Amino acid sequence: MVKDKARTLKEIEQKLEALQAAEGEDVFRLYYEHADVDVAAHEKRRRDALLTPEVAETCEAVLAGDYDASLNRRAKIVSDWVTLARAETDEIIDLKEEIQKIVIDVKPTLDGEEIPRHLKTNILLKETDRDVRRRAFRSEGKLRGELFKRARRLYRLRNDAAQALGYEDYPSLALAGEDLTVAELKDLINKYESVTRQPYEELLAEGVDRFQLDKIEPWDTYYVTDRLCAADDKYFPGEIGLPSLAEVVKGFGRDLESLGIALHADADIPYGGLCFAIRVPDDIRILLNLKDGMSDLRVLYHEFGHAVHRKFTAAEDFSLKVGDAGFFAEAMADTWGLLVNRPAWLRKFTGMSEDEVSRVADAEEKSFAARVRRFMMTQSFEIDAYRNAGGDLAATLDDYAERFLGYRYKDDGMWAEQYFPLLYPMYSKNYMLARVIQRAVHGYLEREYGEPLDEPKAFEFLVDRFYADGALRTWKEKLAVVGLDL
Ligand SMILES: [Zn+2]
Repeated sequence: MVKDKARTLKEIEQKLEALQAAEGEDVFRLYYEHADVDVAAHEKRRRDALLTPEVAETCEAVLAGDYDASLNRRAKIVSDWVTLARAETDEIIDLKEEIQKIVIDVKPTLDGEEIPRHLKTNILLKETDRDVRRRAFRSEGKLRGELFKRARRLYRLRNDAAQALGYEDYPSLALAGEDLTVAELKDLINKYESVTRQPYEELLAEGVDRFQLDKIEPWDTYYVTDRLCAADDKYFPGEIGLPSLAEVVKGFGRDLESLGIALHADADIPYGGLCFAIRVPDDIRILLNLKDGMSDLRVLYHEFGHAVHRKFTAAEDFSLKVGDAGFFAEAMADTWGLLVNRPAWLRKFTGMSEDEVSRVADAEEKSFAARVRRFMMTQSFEIDAYRNAGGDLAATLDDYAERFLGYRYKDDGMWAEQYFPLLYPMYSKNYMLARVIQRAVHGYLEREYGEPLDEPKAFEFLVDRFYADGALRTWKEKLAVVGLDL
């Protein structure tokens, strides 16, 4: 009996792995070659594979039986995937795909002209003329029009599907697979709201003072954060990206070339970078759209962090290779992203003066606060939107904007352009928690090894404690190693 269930689970995982590889290959072609790919068909195939009765039966039998910890953990992960799959109706998958296409096709309109979305972001970060920033901030009218009804419908459909399965709401269902409850997440948000309040208020006050503003408006926050916290783009030309990465990897006692991670730096994608774990650990690819600037370099390191995490996974079973909580995976990537902020990295790879290096280091608390609070706002709004899809979502968003960002949008359509939760449900919290975790990991590495850069032991620690056994241990168990109790 024991052998039978173990063998069945193994076969199920192999099938899921093959489906994921086929999907990954196609999504990669979608982004890299702009191929016409039916992503929804892949999602339905994966869902249908999970909903084969044998899958749930096998997981239940393993979880109810007397099996070893590893098999139990695998059954738990696959069974969580089954639960998520049950909530994915054709209608939901198709609507999400429709929204995805709209987000790609519909461009922001600035002064009557369509502009790429990354240009809008760039204006919000860099443009000194406040009125241009304001117009760029308000440039998503067309997107709002397209999403206004669809967003409400998708929130409602997801919530109905979750309730039909006996969950209180969609967030409860989504978090169950990450060993987290809605109440715990709200506690975490409260905790980090209060931790980041003072630095955030200082940032706003400094912005008002430095740029002679009456008060901070929504179109000022990115600009103020970038100007006060980041180093000048001139210190981060895109071309130092890959050579610096090769140096860092060498300092960790490894060789970038022989890692066999495929890096395509010539991609025309709507993001700074993407990592595809097509088959763990052998086929990992990164697409980059690398431009100048500190944030772009951080994206390169972040994506590389995803790749290294999967590359050094020694787990053999599919569920253990990819089954860790979304925020733990993001934290592993962000741990690499944060290397770019280290004074030792800045000294080595940029021509920054010692004054500049310490200015960036001193501003770290404030930029952390600004980023984390933005994700907390989006996540809090999303949690409420599922239960209140037909209600006053503009007021919901404004209440959270006031709480986390210090202003109200006073703009009825603002909520409808929040497309991220529609495409990546319950994912904003991953970026929030990843930033908390990355800092704890760096702190631990410093205490144990001194400066982690150029310290192979620091890298070996990451491999041994975080990467190698995949999702065998939960995020709670893994974070206990670095003394972090979220
Ligand atoms: Zn990521």
